[in-house]
Amino acid sequence: MNIGSKLVKSVVIVGGGTSGWMTAAALSHHFKTQFPQHTPKITVVESSQLGTIGVGEATIPTLRRFYKKLGFSDIEVIKATNATCKLGIEFKDWQGDGNSFVHPFGLFGQGTKEVPFHHYWLKAQKKHPSDLSDYSLGVNLAQQNKFFFPAETPTSQLDVFDWALHFDAVLFANLMRDYSVKQGVEIVDNFIEQAQINKGTGDIDSITFQDGRNITADLFIDCSGFKALLIEGALKTGYDDWSHWLLCDRAIAVQSRSTQAPIACTIAQAQKAGWQWQIPLQYRMGNGYVYSSKYSSDEDAKASLLSNIDGELLHEPRSFSFTPGRRKKAWNKNCIAVGLASGFLEPLESTSIALVETAIDKILLTFNKSLPEYNVQDVERFNEVNAQEYERVRDFIILHYKINQRTDSPMWQYYRDMDIPKTLQDKMHKFKQDGTIVRYPWEIFGSDSWLAIFNGFNFMPDRYDQRADKMDADYLTEHLEKMRTMVQSQVDKSPSHHEFLTLHCQYKSNF
Ligand SMILES: Cc1cc2nc3c(=O)[nH]c(=O)nc-3n(C[C@H](O)[C@H](O)[C@H](O)COP(=O)(O)OP(=O)(O)OC[C@H]3O[C@@H](n4cnc5c(N)ncnc54)[C@H](O)[C@@H]3O)c2cc1C
Repeated sequence: MNIGSKLVKSVVIVGGGTSGWMTAAALSHHFKTQFPQHTPKITVVESSQLGTIGVGEATIPTLRRFYKKLGFSDIEVIKATNATCKLGIEFKDWQGDGNSFVHPFGLFGQGTKEVPFHHYWLKAQKKHPSDLSDYSLGVNLAQQNKFFFPAETPTSQLDVFDWALHFDAVLFANLMRDYSVKQGVEIVDNFIEQAQINKGTGDIDSITFQDGRNITADLFIDCSGFKALLIEGALKTGYDDWSHWLLCDRAIAVQSRSTQAPIACTIAQAQKAGWQWQIPLQYRMGNGYVYSSKYSSDEDAKASLLSNIDGELLHEPRSFSFTPGRRKKAWNKNCIAVGLASGFLEPLESTSIALVETAIDKILLTFNKSLPEYNVQDVERFNEVNAQEYERVRDFIILHYKINQRTDSPMWQYYRDMDIPKTLQDKMHKFKQDGTIVRYPWEIFGSDSWLAIFNGFNFMPDRYDQRADKMDADYLTEHLEKMRTMVQSQVDKSPSHHEFLTLHCQYKSNF
């Protein structure tokens, strides 16, 4: 063991929601392979009295990489979780004029080595205007509700799109649970009353249950959801509150019976005091209204949600309240917070489970040595990267609100007028100036995601990269035409999403 390092022989994961079981699955897999001689024991503590949050059904493509590392195929996960395929998000009415646009998990057009595609497209706009989305296979598949597995070795950038899942979060947690149990993870179903802190080190020594029993561990992972039992309840770590930038602090959610075959994208429809989601699973629709309590009462939000749902409701609507932000330190003493315990921004862009994955990745990276141990530098590095990941996602979400064009409530005006983080300010400024999309370390969303949002809101650069002028205008027009045709012919020959699910995923349609 290295001097100053702490050896981990036992890990207790507090919480058996999506984040707890994903962490257990990934850690048990990693520990067995990395430390066959010194595999730390993992125990998950959950409370059947409490249950889990029960929302969180839209994901981004990183989820697929997560379960593939554990050996699951896409088809296996789709079948096990009643999932549908997600090509992106359709943003409806964020400009206030009834229009919509799609943020795809894919690229726009084919640029050159030196100059990204959107500069060529901008150059051509004056003489031959076209929609940027005409050059995105992902957008066109989503708009026409078609789906196929993307080529593993695309022949050009035009073929590149990615996809994610809309899944039943409870079924996904069960899948991770079954996997973890097979890897030797133990389960304790009990209600945690409190944690005992070591007076000398400040570490958590043990947690005590309602029935008086207790459990000790070298490392605790707090996946207890908004309760943040250990990281906040026991260790008083502190929270960065971002509610002055992200006003939505409430949600109301309800599932309804599907009234049509599932579409291949999430819908995010702007409303007076927030936005409404529709997440299509194979046989039901997840619906929710995320809103600001400053600009809507709970009753109005409920009425607004219910007036916008087609199918029969499957249960009573459920309410949630949260404070957008992140824990000041995700790793404090011998406790790492993962999932809602470490922070939550809001559901727009479906980033919460993705942040669970990045947290897990960082834990695995920490335990990538010859022994399962960590030191102060590991903890500092973890917190530094975690903070940046949260801040990048925060900026991306704020962008949607900052450049909205709605005029139907003071909330949207507040957003347009508000000061934004410097990192986002710089990014917007640079794009406006000359179309450059600035990239910071630890961004989850790529340049084309930022482009999709800028373009979707008509936030356009004042000029394009002058190197695009090296391309002859007629040659460019001809090429753009070719690209549009290639995208459309690919879409024309693709099966519908509904056919894809029926063929590969045991989906039986009633429609
Ligand atoms: C309105 C809303 C919509 C969302 N939509 C999305 C989305 O579309 N996409 C996305 O990626 N994310 C979304 N999220 C976030 C997503 O739901 C969570 O990231 C995900 O479910 C992980 O939650 P969790 O496991 O951290 O917490 P939870 O599911 O709350 O699990 C907490 C666990 O801790 C246990 N526990 C708590 N207290 C105790 C105790 N005293 N004793 C014993 N056990 C205890 C509970 O029993 C439970 O097992 C959304 C969140 C909200 C609020």
